Amino acid sequence: MSSNRDHYDILVAGGGPAGSTAATLLAQHGRGVLLAERSATPQFKVGESLMPATYWIFERLGVLDKVRATSFPQKRSVQFVNHEGRASKPFYFHAFRDEESSQTWQVRRSEFDQLLLENAAEHGVEVRRGVAVREFLFDGPRAVGALLQEGADIRRVSARVIVDASGQSALLARHLKLREFETKLRNVSYYCHFDGARLDDGIDGGATIIFRTADRKAWFWLIPQPEERASVGVVGSVEDLVEDRGGDPQKVFDQELAQCPRLAERLLGARQIMPMKAIRDFSYHARQAAGDGWVLVGDAFGFIDPIYSSGVFLAMKSAELAADAIHDALVAGAPSAERLCRFEPELRRGSEALRQLVYAYYDPDFSVAEFLARHPRFRRDLTEMLIGNVFRVDVEDFVAALVDHRRASSKAAC
Ligand SMILES: Cc1cc2nc3c(=O)[nH]c(=O)nc-3n(C[C@H](O)[C@H](O)[C@H](O)COP(=O)(O)OP(=O)(O)OC[C@H]3O[C@@H](n4cnc5c(N)ncnc54)[C@H](O)[C@@H]3O)c2cc1C
Repeated sequence: MSSNRDHYDILVAGGGPAGSTAATLLAQHGRGVLLAERSATPQFKVGESLMPATYWIFERLGVLDKVRATSFPQKRSVQFVNHEGRASKPFYFHAFRDEESSQTWQVRRSEFDQLLLENAAEHGVEVRRGVAVREFLFDGPRAVGALLQEGADIRRVSARVIVDASGQSALLARHLKLREFETKLRNVSYYCHFDGARLDDGIDGGATIIFRTADRKAWFWLIPQPEERASVGVVGSVEDLVEDRGGDPQKVFDQELAQCPRLAERLLGARQIMPMKAIRDFSYHARQAAGDGWVLVGDAFGFIDPIYSSGVFLAMKSAELAADAIHDALVAGAPSAERLCRFEPELRRGSEALRQLVYAYYDPDFSVAEFLARHPRFRRDLTEMLIGNVFRVDVEDFVAALVDHRRASSKAAC
């Protein structure tokens, strides 16, 4: 391996958005950081649509100019098309605050993740691609390092804190048996990229569009990508899209698309450029976000659901909160569980607001239009949630009204 050092302040496992965010911020705090990313080269990844609130993390990472300089389409709104093919008005992020932070980008993930990794390296992080964390090492309950593998070569590295940012591999949460699955969101997704999809022009050209299928059992995303490409995926329950469906992801995708004429017409003549991909059981959370000498960030801590494109934002936000908690703990003396856990309540509060909004989307008795007709003052809060401002605004009133409305709707439906 190219470095001979065997001790760091921080070892970060995984070079996705969570890992590079935590690593960069800790390097900015003056810490010695090693980041180990298993893949030797940038890889295709799902998760291309950002939330505008990511802007403030980009600013802190010092990466805004680099993101601006990419060819990533600008995303200014989200639009929902219902099961009858009726489209909502777009939720424009700039409706209440017309500034650059009220838009975001639809990123090509291989390029985006690489850009964040290069930025981490520029801030002094030792970034190692093609190096996998094989095993975390503990001394009693305290994490003390890891075994790293590069090809056939295995080396032992010690660190004062290890940050697990390994995404859905969730290395540490699996090892410590901390994962709790979202039983209401036992979903599967089939997805791929198309060239030549019909996208809108002008201000709506970079919008995410969410389409519900005619039987209301699944939904599709359409996310513009650079070079006239589009990411398209369908999400539904394992019960509906896996069981008794024959096991061929392409076939299930095509059958569901046939139930979604408004999307099918946008894909007419478009060329699918890769085999259909599949992922399932992606919604879970760890019971605990940190312990003695260890912290979980991003999907390695948890993931709610892709409907509002909150994954990358929450991954980066959790990493930002965790990095500050780690720095404070090291300044105070020792990275104890009690000190490292301090970011967890804020993370859970912000995630909970999004989770309630996710439940509302999947609730067959819930209608956003009815909710907003009854509570017009919450239109702004709803847009704030879609922006990702779940950590900044007081969302509790909104969430309470949402939960009450869902309760009332389900009683009415009985
Ligand atoms: C169907 C679907 C659609 C989605 N759509 C969106 C969307 O539109 N917008 C959005 O914001 N989010 C979306 N997401 C979520 C988003 O993809 C994730 O939340 C986000 O990538 C999490 O970032 P992360 O850094 O935690 O993990 P990742 O991006 O997964 O990065 C983890 C990294 O760890 C590395 N790694 C794994 N194991 C090891 C190991 N042993 N050693 C070293 N490295 C390792 C991996 O190679 C990877 O690079 C979607 C998710 C799904 C399932």
